[in-house]
Amino acid sequence: MDKYNTRATIENTTLWETLFVVTKDGKKKPSIRFWRWCSIIGVHLLFFLSYHIDLQMLEGTLSGSRFLGFHLIDPYMTLQVFAAHHEIPTNLIIGTVTIILGYLLLGGRAYCSWVCPYGLIGEIGEKLHKTLVKKKIIKSHPFNHNVKYIFWVLFLVFAFISGYLVFEVFNVVGIISRSIIYGWGVALSFVLAVFLVEVFYSQRAWCRYVCPLGTTYALIGWGSATKIKWDDRCDHCQVCTQVCIVPHVLEITKKNADRQGKKEISIMSGDCTLCGRCVEVCHTDALNFETKLKKLI
Ligand code: SF4
Ligand code: SF4
Repeated sequence: MDKYNTRATIENTTLWETLFVVTKDGKKKPSIRFWRWCSIIGVHLLFFLSYHIDLQMLEGTLSGSRFLGFHLIDPYMTLQVFAAHHEIPTNLIIGTVTIILGYLLLGGRAYCSWVCPYGLIGEIGEKLHKTLVKKKIIKSHPFNHNVKYIFWVLFLVFAFISGYLVFEVFNVVGIISRSIIYGWGVALSFVLAVFLVEVFYSQRAWCRYVCPLGTTYALIGWGSATKIKWDDRCDHCQVCTQVCIVPHVLEITKKNADRQGKKEISIMSGDCTLCGRCVEVCHTDALNFETKLKKLI
């Protein structure tokens, strides 16, 4: 893939082509997407090997695990436990704080792009969806992205009323994580149903409009030290919004820069997954990763 795709031609890029980029001196190198997918596969390989050959590096599942002895707990899991049982065990607090601190440094929804197994599956579904739309076989059905906050509250209310972690029945991330580690189960049919909805009806519907895990990491992401930075080399070709899972974050950033008369500005929205797709397709190099970690050190 090279950077000189237009809004029209970017649609013709195959998924395979997006795993590599051509540098200015004409060399081909692995893309950010390639490294993200390696990261997702690597994390789950560690889970798998820790369970099956007692590697003891990353034990448990994505909902709750121990990495080299450190507790790691998904923050939305902890909220559900609190809603259902009105108390949080100490190891859950330690694991949740560790995860929150980690993602405050790395970027909240970096979890979605660099760790979540459904994130990878969703990207494949997204490509199939766009191909079907382009061939005019289906129409896409976008919704208001703020609907995700309703699901976020709703599943906590369900846990509070029932005393059960109701969302875990539908949690595609947990289902896939458990299936990879402990073996396939009938729950995977729900994941397949979600995938088919995304392919044939609404692009990335689960991640954009439903998943409370993504929403929780988005809330963490507002305060994170790692962001995407936009600068005024941008010529408004809009190719970045074409490839972005949450294009509203790029549109808001541009508007904020114009309103504040700034030449560069960070994407403040926690919805950005730091997938780096916009960075890779920007032909003016106006989008880049930035980290405030250097200032902290
Ligand atoms: S929104 Fe949920 S399912 Fe989608 S990538 Fe993020 S955590 Fe995974
Ligand atoms: S703004 Fe860029 S890095 Fe953030 S989600 Fe969109 S494409 Fe990915």
